[in-house]
Amino acid sequence: MTVWDDLVGQEKVSEQLDAAARDADALVTAAAANTPPPAASKMTHAWLFTGPPGAGVTQAARAFAAALQCVSPDRAHAGPGCGFCEGCHTTLVGTHADVSTVTAVGTQILAEDMRDTVRKSFTSPAGGRWQVILVEDAERLNEKSANAVLKAVEEPAPRTVWLLCAPSIEDVLPTIRSRCRHVNLRTPSVAAVADTLVRREGVDPEVAAAAAAATQGHVDRARRLATDPAARERRAAVLRLPLRLDDIGGCLKAAQELVDAAAADAKALAEETDAKETEELKAALGAAQGGRLPRGTAGVMKELEDRQKRRRTRTQRDSLDLALTDLTGFYRDVLALQLGSRVAIANADVEDALERVARAGTPESTLRRIEAIAACRDALDRNVAPLLAVEAMTMALRAG
Ligand SMILES: [Zn+2]
Repeated sequence: MTVWDDLVGQEKVSEQLDAAARDADALVTAAAANTPPPAASKMTHAWLFTGPPGAGVTQAARAFAAALQCVSPDRAHAGPGCGFCEGCHTTLVGTHADVSTVTAVGTQILAEDMRDTVRKSFTSPAGGRWQVILVEDAERLNEKSANAVLKAVEEPAPRTVWLLCAPSIEDVLPTIRSRCRHVNLRTPSVAAVADTLVRREGVDPEVAAAAAAATQGHVDRARRLATDPAARERRAAVLRLPLRLDDIGGCLKAAQELVDAAAADAKALAEETDAKETEELKAALGAAQGGRLPRGTAGVMKELEDRQKRRRTRTQRDSLDLALTDLTGFYRDVLALQLGSRVAIANADVEDALERVARAGTPESTLRRIEAIAACRDALDRNVAPLLAVEAMTMALRAG
């Protein structure tokens, strides 16, 4: 079991990263022994990982980071990335001192979110291997934060490695991506995802096959669907929605429920993390538990509250986005039935509903509905109020 085993259906990418990690290790070893570095190296200081949602772009970057920090005594022979040594383990769980992760907490990564990380990128790694900076949502860099990254990537410290993750190379500034080596992940096959669920999660093969088919190569969603009853219930509720859009009242109610469910998701996550974060910050600022904060710390607290608010907004949007993905899958199946193709039905478990909707409409009306869902997604991207956007969509799904 190595770090590459976590990458589902990405054999080429694993090979590419394994080769680079071996060369990176050779560089570190040569420097430690004071011998000249190997002449040719597949290692470089800036990488851009891209791939469709669910393909495991961030996991691939993190696996690579782990391999770069691997200190397994066997690494020269078996290749770095054992998955178990101190270096691999702490990188995978996110506590390695020389691996910094930047995640967008809102719709954008602001310059202040990047400031400490950029500063760190100019320093040497404490552990003597690599200073790894992993940017999870590089497509959310705004002009200022992207410029800060560009400067850092242009003049890297000798042992610094930038790992940028984005859906596609077009999502990253040309000036940045031209300095990166590109690693492109593809959508893993349904069979590969099902196989992983059985082998890694111990999921029953039939459940694994259904979850993999329903999520169409999205590894995390398949895992959640196969292992979390609440996720199955959520998806079932979304897939019942098309049958409830008979009148305007039904459309408005369905829209409200979708938005409420997403808000509940965001709230649950916030309750888990916000209170703990706030307490930690207060403790760090020197307040007695529940006591008054020292003077002059209001600004720092306000900054944390702003971050938490941005994160709630993002979670709600991500959750809504998931529901829209399920809905699109539903109508894609309806279209397949209308066109007489049964082969690639993703949501076989709701076939009766698919049949009913297919009989009541035409391929043209189904295409219009799929477009209405895409329009809703666009509206959410443009920060239209969620309820307005979703109501417009459910009304259009009915009128289709
Ligand atoms: Zn290791």
